[in-house]
Amino acid sequence: MNTNNENTSKNVAANKVIYNISPFTLLDYPEKTACIFWFAGCNMRCLYCYNPEIVYGKGSITYEQALIFLKSRRGLLDAVVLSGGECSLHQHLPEFITEIKRLGFLVKMDTNGSKPGLLRYLSQKGLLDYVALDFKAPKHKFKSLTTSDLYLHFRESLRVLVNSGIRFEVRTTIHSELLNQNDVDEMMEVLNAEGYQGTYYLQHFRNGSDTLIELPESKPDYLHKVIGKQDINVRFRG
Ligand code: SF4
Repeated sequence: MNTNNENTSKNVAANKVIYNISPFTLLDYPEKTACIFWFAGCNMRCLYCYNPEIVYGKGSITYEQALIFLKSRRGLLDAVVLSGGECSLHQHLPEFITEIKRLGFLVKMDTNGSKPGLLRYLSQKGLLDYVALDFKAPKHKFKSLTTSDLYLHFRESLRVLVNSGIRFEVRTTIHSELLNQNDVDEMMEVLNAEGYQGTYYLQHFRNGSDTLIELPESKPDYLHKVIGKQDINVRFRG
């Protein structure tokens, strides 16, 4: 990567932070072709997490290798999705995104919202084109569902994005044993209060997935009973 300090640049480029790359997706960036960089590690431990191997795993791909991959995809892909795990935990992400954008790709970030300062910085620098923000749970369940104390960080990230002008979506995974109708109503009240104007995506937990802890079956018909009473545009996914 191009920074003023050549040694720092080499160290950054050599960091193995990416667990894996999905070379092609039509599903993860709205209306665009994309690849996905899965970043290793996370600062949450959501009970329903589908990616325990990424959350607990180590990266095997460096920034430099990821950029070499991207150079081979110029003209073939529109965008890069930064996912995980939690990509915002990784140092030097802004420099990495700068390089991605220099190659001409759009950048989408999937985030749990725990790093509002970084989101603010990236948005001010014009380094993000789309963000998918996970709204894990209402305040009273946030800690038990995510095993983290990061609810206020999430709220601040939501505020940052609402005021940023960046295209973004908020989404929640629903497991019928973890979130109920009142919880979803409460989350919609929060979205209203923060001035969120976009679509709120509710996706049903995929039964049969490997998760961080063993969970009982979630009832698929449950999701469609979660009808919002707020002025929020709700869509069901999956
Ligand atoms: S679902 Fe939770 S634990 Fe899993 S990667 Fe996302 S934020 Fe981390």
